[in-house]
Amino acid sequence: MPHRSDPSTGFNPERSRDPVVQAPPRGEEATVEALFGSPVPETRPALALVAASLRGKVAIVTGASRGIGRAIALEFAASGVHVAFNYLDTGPESRLQANGVAAELQELDVKVFSRACDVRRPEHVEAFVKEAVGHMGGLHFLVNNAGIGRDRALWRMTDEEWTAVLETNLAGAFYFIRAAAPFLRAQEWGKIVNVASVHGVRGDFGLSNYISSKAGLIGLTRSAALELGPRNVNVNAVAPGYIRTTQLTEQVPAEILDRARDRSVLGRLGDPQDVAHVVLFLCSEGARHITGAVIPIDGGYLL
Ligand code: NDP
Repeated sequence: MPHRSDPSTGFNPERSRDPVVQAPPRGEEATVEALFGSPVPETRPALALVAASLRGKVAIVTGASRGIGRAIALEFAASGVHVAFNYLDTGPESRLQANGVAAELQELDVKVFSRACDVRRPEHVEAFVKEAVGHMGGLHFLVNNAGIGRDRALWRMTDEEWTAVLETNLAGAFYFIRAAAPFLRAQEWGKIVNVASVHGVRGDFGLSNYISSKAGLIGLTRSAALELGPRNVNVNAVAPGYIRTTQLTEQVPAEILDRARDRSVLGRLGDPQDVAHVVLFLCSEGARHITGAVIPIDGGYLL
């Protein structure tokens, strides 16, 4: 299938493949060249084009009133991407936080659309996506980030704790993908990124609901990649390790965080921006040949 250009910029990375004139090799480069020769023509660095491929696009980020979602929304806006986001609205503090993020985004000179919308309510999700697309004038990226944890040993876990986590982390992402798919399929271009977790890949104590939801989200990512790929829509997941957000600092005991830091080969916890950078890369044309992948962002926690 021939590669399709990005609809809004006309950017086609194939064009950045022109060979360039080479400077004569020196030192280490000369040694490498002597060993391997130069069978593949050198390519022009395409990083600027990768960044340009984001500008002017429209993203929906779920659960962006704080934490990782907020970092993703801000990183998009800093790259010139218009941002629509939702949040749950658990009270005045949650509204205040959402309004604060909307104001931060507006300061970056992009269009912003924010609404309370419970990802567990399919009819609300459908309405949110339609309204966001109408307001923003299109849709290119969907980031399913909204998520919760309700940790407890499985023999003590209540039905409510099980259902709330599965409904938010897994069904919520499904509802958003289903609602966004008609727009992305029709324009034959789009990127979806699901925020899974290292706990969708490995087991741990007290997380049976969370781990089931994130493992399910990884399965959903692969299925959606298969079904939407023929219409040029890439679907990937990121699997963060422990990331310093309010959820983490408030809910996870210090000794578990210490253990996570020790287990990570880089010896640190992640920051929300560590996740945001990878999400933006997956939405850029630099990642046009990646789909159905699960990218750990965990400092080596899973090794
Ligand atoms: P936060 O608790 O900081 O933020 C969660 C966001 O999701 C908030 O905006 C919240 O809105 C929103 N949200 C929660 N439930 C719903 C719902 N039913 N409908 C709509 N919005 C909802 O979470 P994090 O930033 O820590 O986590 C973000 C994602 O990253 C989650 O999917 C999480 O599982 C994943 N993750 C996090 C890790 C970490 O260490 N922090 C590690 C690995 C994965 P409101 O403010 O109104 O409640």
